[in-house]
Amino acid sequence: MTNSSPVIITVAITGAIPRKKDCPGLPVTVSEQIEETHKAYEAGAALVHLHVRKPDESPSSDPDQFAKVQEGIKKHCPDMIIQFSTGGRGQDQALRGAMLFHRPDMASLATGSVNFPNGIYENPPTFVDGLANEMNKYDIKPEIEVFDMAMLYSAADLIKRGLLKAPAHVQFVMGVPNAMPAKRSILEFLVSELKEIMPDATWTAAGIARHQLAVNEWALEMGGHARTGLEDNIKYDQTRVAKDNAELVSRVAELATKYNRPIANAKLAREILGLRAAG
Ligand code: ZN
Repeated sequence: MTNSSPVIITVAITGAIPRKKDCPGLPVTVSEQIEETHKAYEAGAALVHLHVRKPDESPSSDPDQFAKVQEGIKKHCPDMIIQFSTGGRGQDQALRGAMLFHRPDMASLATGSVNFPNGIYENPPTFVDGLANEMNKYDIKPEIEVFDMAMLYSAADLIKRGLLKAPAHVQFVMGVPNAMPAKRSILEFLVSELKEIMPDATWTAAGIARHQLAVNEWALEMGGHARTGLEDNIKYDQTRVAKDNAELVSRVAELATKYNRPIANAKLAREILGLRAAG
């Protein structure tokens, strides 16, 4: 299963869990987020996955704040793919897509519900359909977040029902406690299923906390794309393994060389994902 196609490195810079105390470099303010993204971009990240936070670090759904971060990233990181998160714990469902009218290139879309460590990540069918509709309305490409196996088949069903355009882009999230474990055999199974039910889809994988690097290696070896970043790194685990996001991106870039995978710059990443030109 070797593959020498270019790899898109995603950086998830901050997430939604208040942790600055344990993670002094975690970007919270608009300017911290722009600066942190710029450093990660220089290190090889072509796609940034964004949450925004209130000054007390709790998740925010303020569309203006998303817009400010987006504007700064566009200015400093030409072509970089901007992906808004529609996740974020404890946030009202009605607010989770409230910023989509700012037309980011992409937005995350979890296609089902799952247990997280301390509660339910709730994505009922009508809510998923509603978010998919919003993304279509603003020409935003979803990144399908697969936290559990059924979500993969629900994504295929969205395509069948005309709510999701093919080719889809799917992310397998592994290692969240109570959700899908980080096991290579599971990833291999998911990728083979993906090829059967959505043959033209692209895919990436994210490993949470101590699983981050192992999942990066499996994805690189199996021809997928790779996600890193402090969001995944500090989640459910107080251990910090890098000083900042750029260091994590550099680590994946080094691994990519080991697996003979050239790193896609932002322009190429847009072509691979079939996105509109930056602007
Ligand atoms: Zn996220």
